[in-house]
Amino acid sequence: MSVLNPDLLKKPSEAQVKRLPKALLHDHLDGGLRPETIIEIANEIGHALPTTDPVELAEWFRASCDSGSLVLYLETFAHTVAVMQRKEDIVRVARECAVDLARDGVVYAEVRMAPELLTEKGLSLSEIIEAILEGFREGEKEAKSEGNTIRIFSLLCGMRQNDRSQEVAELAVKYRDKGVVGFDIAGPEDGFPPSDQLDTFEYLRKENAHFTIHAGEAYGLPSIWEAIQICGAERLGHGVRIADDIDFNHTPPRLGRLASYVRDRRIPLEMCPSSNIQTGVAASFAEHPLAKLSKLRFRVTINTDNRLMSATSMSREMYEMVKECDWTYQDLQRATINALKSAFIPFEERLAIIEGIVKPGYEAIAGE
Ligand SMILES: [Zn+2]
Repeated sequence: MSVLNPDLLKKPSEAQVKRLPKALLHDHLDGGLRPETIIEIANEIGHALPTTDPVELAEWFRASCDSGSLVLYLETFAHTVAVMQRKEDIVRVARECAVDLARDGVVYAEVRMAPELLTEKGLSLSEIIEAILEGFREGEKEAKSEGNTIRIFSLLCGMRQNDRSQEVAELAVKYRDKGVVGFDIAGPEDGFPPSDQLDTFEYLRKENAHFTIHAGEAYGLPSIWEAIQICGAERLGHGVRIADDIDFNHTPPRLGRLASYVRDRRIPLEMCPSSNIQTGVAASFAEHPLAKLSKLRFRVTINTDNRLMSATSMSREMYEMVKECDWTYQDLQRATINALKSAFIPFEERLAIIEGIVKPGYEAIAGE
């Protein structure tokens, strides 16, 4: 039994949050491009953008996604996906993603992408996956040369509204020892229940492969129930609407059967507060269920979702929790350890990061 270090009950400054070791489970590769990179590639391939000024373009992405509609939010991806159709551009975007996350103190990341969106210029799904993995390995090296250590892996997404999920799932299995650690389905929740892709999830389970499902974001409890009980999701992408199954007016809060199940089974919630605020799921960080669910000891993790569209970073998501919800080092560390416990890499590798990097990093920074 370890005794809690009293330093961990303090609140970190913004600069301290930036230096803390972080783990990220839910980040979209096509949602985190550098504006300068979009402009450069768009110029080379003749793709028209709303503006060619990087500051204005970043603001355009954020503002377009503040519209409060998930459907509009997804439309902004037309531009990022358009500049990720050549092999060299995919490698570059993946490399820059790794470097940017490492500069923000992220030591472990699983970054997801639907390879089927990048086939417009004739690349095969395998070529796309290999380009992403090549970019991640290059980015890890570049980060190292800057004095940052990051391990970054790929999750492959199928799109709910398309029919290539099985093919993508088979590739997730094929590349599982080469840097792909799992599978997900993304795209509009409404009208495309995860059970539409049941055969794919059954295939993954037979292969002992890991997967998460975007559920309980735009759509409520039935989508969470289906993702877990019908499809067998190990983690929930967002899962924020699980709060609908909890009566917070009661003291202590009263959990419904599904919320109890999610908590009892320690099912990880990949929560993305800024993204949820933009799509109207929550009004603010203070109103977002994340803090309340964490207090009830759900396995809550903090994530960025789309760094460009939400003008955010892991540091920003975490520091907002400090500012708006009075989170301490202990709360942030718990969310970080939750993320690593829920990571799709092998158990002993997760432990090595928790014990060797996260805990000593927190002790050192909180003890300053
Ligand atoms: Zn997402």
